[in-house]
Amino acid sequence: MTTLKVAVIPGDGIGWEVVPEGLKVLEAVGRKHGLDYAFTEYDWGCERFHKTGRLMPEDGLERLKESDAIFLGAVGFPGVPDHVSLWGLLIPIRREMHQYVNLRPVRMMKGMKCPLANRGPEDIDFWVIRENNEGEYSEIGGRLNRGTDREMAIQETVMTRHGTDRIMRYAFDLCRRVGKQKVTSATKSNGIIHTMPFWDERFEAIAAEYPDLKTDKYHIDILTAHFVLHPDWFDVVVGSNLFGDILSDLGPAVAGSIGIAPSANINPEGDYPSMFEPVHGSAPDIAGKGIANPIGQIWSGAMMLEHLGHQAAADDIVKAIETVLEGAGPKTPDIGGQATTKDLGDAIVEALK
Ligand code: ATP
Ligand code: MG
Repeated sequence: MTTLKVAVIPGDGIGWEVVPEGLKVLEAVGRKHGLDYAFTEYDWGCERFHKTGRLMPEDGLERLKESDAIFLGAVGFPGVPDHVSLWGLLIPIRREMHQYVNLRPVRMMKGMKCPLANRGPEDIDFWVIRENNEGEYSEIGGRLNRGTDREMAIQETVMTRHGTDRIMRYAFDLCRRVGKQKVTSATKSNGIIHTMPFWDERFEAIAAEYPDLKTDKYHIDILTAHFVLHPDWFDVVVGSNLFGDILSDLGPAVAGSIGIAPSANINPEGDYPSMFEPVHGSAPDIAGKGIANPIGQIWSGAMMLEHLGHQAAADDIVKAIETVLEGAGPKTPDIGGQATTKDLGDAIVEALK
């Protein structure tokens, strides 16, 4: 029996509804594959911020380092400004744990309805890789002449060769590993004239190390259009922190629903734990109603098991999700049904048997 130490952070809103379903499925697949878990749950998030002024305790990051992986719901809720919740929990974890890859599969599951006419699961199956530690999301900058008519705001983008090369290499390595052919770069080197030409140069330099793989690049504006018009063009798409963020919400939306999309914040070196969370946020509009789709969380659990080396268990979860989506079983309202979060979680556990 292998015991996996998992730090569990439900966070805010529907995080508290979908995380229990994710844990339930992990337990069920564990029983089949000889996996055991030591879950440690943390009540970090916006409610804690209201009570204590911090989203997580001062030694929070240190505590997380003791785990094999982090399983997160969603953080952020009305009443706490978004930048406070983001910089008070998510970004510190991603940076301190060197989770410099944000990996998001964009895959239209059989049984899902695609918002694009004439597109099906065979057209939409690619990966978005977002640089997760530097780039546009930087603390460098400030505000000048506040409150005057000469007021201005400055925010610097920082791209290092170390940070850029490693995300590109990850993209090319993943492309080989999953048996795909092409890596696409998201750029904007016509308008952003320092960082983006650097990004392009590094892309070309790293591409030269992988002569067996094809490459292409698009400016981010037309690339978003191509995601909608030609999703079948893409295998692996690599983008900076901001561009990757945008593309990795657009991709799942094109694939049918944000509610089922998973995501992984990966530390490829494995010296600190990686973190697995659904693409969606805390969904305040439906929180507390018990109707959130738990599949994004459950699929994130599968990515966690895959990352920890338990491929067969991960594949089993993805298969069970697909079985339920394709069948006549329960569906939550976002995917056209009337079932509850728990019904859908139960159906996936049942499909695992
Ligand atoms: P964040 O900034 O944290 O990413 P967001 O502003 O992008 O959050 P979400 O919380 O993801 O927003 O919600 C966007 C919309 O998608 C809302 O209408 C929400 O109800 C819906 N939604 C999000 N997640 C789910 C889910 N798991 N099931 C059903 N609907 C969802
Ligand atoms: Mg969002």
